[in-house]
Amino acid sequence: DMFSKSSTNVESASWKKGEPVPYAALCQTFEQIEGTTKRLQILDYLVKFLITVIKLSPESLLTVIYLSINKLCPEYEGVELGIGESLLMKAIAESTGREMKKIKEDYAEIGDLGVVAMNSRSNQPTMFRPKSLTIPHVFKTLKEIASLSGNSSQKLKVDKIKVLLVACRNKEAKFLMRSLEGKLRIGLAERTVVVALAQATVLSRPDIKKLSKDKLQSELEEAAAVVKSVYSELPCYDLIVPALLEGDIKGLKNACKLTPGIPLKPMLAHPTKALTDILDRFENVAFTCEYKYDGERAQIHKLEDGTMRIYSRNSENMSAKYPDVMERLSKFAKESTTAFVLDCEAVAWDREQRCILPFQVLSTRKRKDVKEEDIKVQVCIFSFDLLYLNGESLLQTPLSKRRQLMLDHFNEVDGQFAFAKSMNSTQIEDIQTFLDQSVTDNCEGLMVKTLEGDEASYEPSKRSRNWLKVKKDYLSGVGDSIDLVVIGAYTGRGKRTGVYGGYLLACYDPDREEYQSICKIGTGFSEQDLEDHYKELKEHAIPEPKSYYLLGDGNRPDVWFAPVKVWEIKCADLSVSPVYKAAIGVVDPTKGISLRFPRFIRIRDDKQPEQATSSEQIAEMYNDQKLNSVKNDNGIGVD
Ligand code: ATP
Repeated sequence: DMFSKSSTNVESASWKKGEPVPYAALCQTFEQIEGTTKRLQILDYLVKFLITVIKLSPESLLTVIYLSINKLCPEYEGVELGIGESLLMKAIAESTGREMKKIKEDYAEIGDLGVVAMNSRSNQPTMFRPKSLTIPHVFKTLKEIASLSGNSSQKLKVDKIKVLLVACRNKEAKFLMRSLEGKLRIGLAERTVVVALAQATVLSRPDIKKLSKDKLQSELEEAAAVVKSVYSELPCYDLIVPALLEGDIKGLKNACKLTPGIPLKPMLAHPTKALTDILDRFENVAFTCEYKYDGERAQIHKLEDGTMRIYSRNSENMSAKYPDVMERLSKFAKESTTAFVLDCEAVAWDREQRCILPFQVLSTRKRKDVKEEDIKVQVCIFSFDLLYLNGESLLQTPLSKRRQLMLDHFNEVDGQFAFAKSMNSTQIEDIQTFLDQSVTDNCEGLMVKTLEGDEASYEPSKRSRNWLKVKKDYLSGVGDSIDLVVIGAYTGRGKRTGVYGGYLLACYDPDREEYQSICKIGTGFSEQDLEDHYKELKEHAIPEPKSYYLLGDGNRPDVWFAPVKVWEIKCADLSVSPVYKAAIGVVDPTKGISLRFPRFIRIRDDKQPEQATSSEQIAEMYNDQKLNSVKNDNGIGVD
């Protein structure tokens, strides 16, 4: 194709002030980033590109950020790409005139549809050269594709993808395909994008050349910290990017604050092994114990206009799942509240026995299109934190005060809304009694939280040591449960004929963007579970393992799956393994970590595969276990 040869990367990637940013310029940056594994180098490539965007076409900055993290809008709006492989292959075939069979073969060999698309293109002569792609055009089309639904949507999607593909030059098809699949896989983590955005904002300031090296360094660091913290409080680039362009880092802090209607990333807890860990951690610190309810996290928002919404741990809007709760919300809030954000747990509730039911009961509630008259499982909301009240963010306010405000401004309603049960004694005997009581009341254990001062602020998105979780079964030495992704299955035999007999599981390494095999599992499933898993998972079977699965020689299941399902697993302990790859290189240079005696607990529909337990957490658990066994050799429970 003489046209694409005549245009070099550099030519197509440069543009004039005020013009829309060429897609090629972004792809060139992606290509640079993909070519290195050095974090600072990756950051540097992106910062340079963002500075150019800010100087020449600031109105494209927001879309550039979205394309870099491969999203189309804030997470809580729930619009996602993730077009299936077969549809993409069809688009490649139709736009290049190549046979589907050939494309499938290429894909099986190369394992990357992006590369397949790029290689396919160069075989195709083009009569008319379509206009080169721009960022606004590509982004707009991706959004249109994502929003298509219904019967004829497949064909419309393929058509739109074809139009884009025909206009692609050089490396563009590669990144376009990956964006459509929903995974860029160039080693660019969202954290890095946030830091790059902060640094580029500082570095585009006109006065920047006058700063000393030290001053500049400290400004860059502060900017990164501010943008990170603002983002965890208000995870919405639609608001953050314009605020950054208009003011600067300082302006951002004032302009972007926790806002009802935009779910913030919840604060998370650190696991503990024994009650004595609590006293070790909180020596001389005021703390409180609360029941750890076993349900589903619910962030309840009342907006200034009176609208109410319930969000999940994942920032998903769950208002439609809980029409019954929505209906009652106004009863729980006193008239003194105009707007608020409550942090709660929704728990299945037995109205007759007036007691909490296990999580398994809650999980039988439908997630979509729930009609009030069909609801069989009742829920009670247990509220444990107040994060925003009447125009004021309370994130910096210590827990003792937040809790008081919650008690002052809300009403308990029998069997519908209650404050999390709490106890402030620091005596180990009292904590033990409270823990036993929580278990009797069908809770999972305790949450132990700092109460006063800076250490007792609410830390969005952090797994903080200011919140410790004590689960009843840690105390028998089993440790916290682990959330893993199902990547393969073994054909069932004997009693399990017709369903899968066992599964291959993986943890996730966000730095390497890969799923690492960790164990086989065949225990903990009821017959019903086995049937349900079979039905659900067979839809996600793929012919070959993904290129981003890290597997040992012995990991050869009969069926492979795309990474979609997250399961909660318990095990007896963790051990170093020559067969599995979890956290490889962390505790042993060539071996990974595996789980011994893993057992299925439940499906985690509230977690995305990328939120599975990370390799780093696995390594941490392994190391903790070694420490613990030195401290007190408490026998490990084998099931
Ligand atoms: P991860 O597995 O990432 O640690 P998780 O969702 O399994 O997260 P845990 O860390 O085990 O959660 O525990 C924190 C969760 O406990 C919260 O997300 C919340 O849903 C629930 N929870 C129940 N009671 C409380 C409470 N009193 N305070 C805070 N969280 C509570």
